[in-house]
Amino acid sequence: MNVKDSERKVKLLAEKEYGKCKICGTTKVQALYTYRSAQFVSDYIPPTLSPVCRRCVYREVYGTKNLNKKMKERTLDGEF
Ligand SMILES: [Zn+2]
Repeated sequence: MNVKDSERKVKLLAEKEYGKCKICGTTKVQALYTYRSAQFVSDYIPPTLSPVCRRCVYREVYGTKNLNKKMKERTLDGEF
């Protein structure tokens, strides 16, 4: 399934802040994001997850295969 980038919401909240990731549960000083997955069904709005760590955001968006490459490029960090 193809997903348009505009349907996905990723926002960098803080580059370095102490917080607990809602997905993996890691609690430490880390980059924190707000993440909302793409909307597949028109009458269902996916919940917004926040805060979420960098690794989880990139994994959700790009999948495990491209995770490390995209994290290095930091492709999501400039999107608001
Ligand atoms: Zn995480």
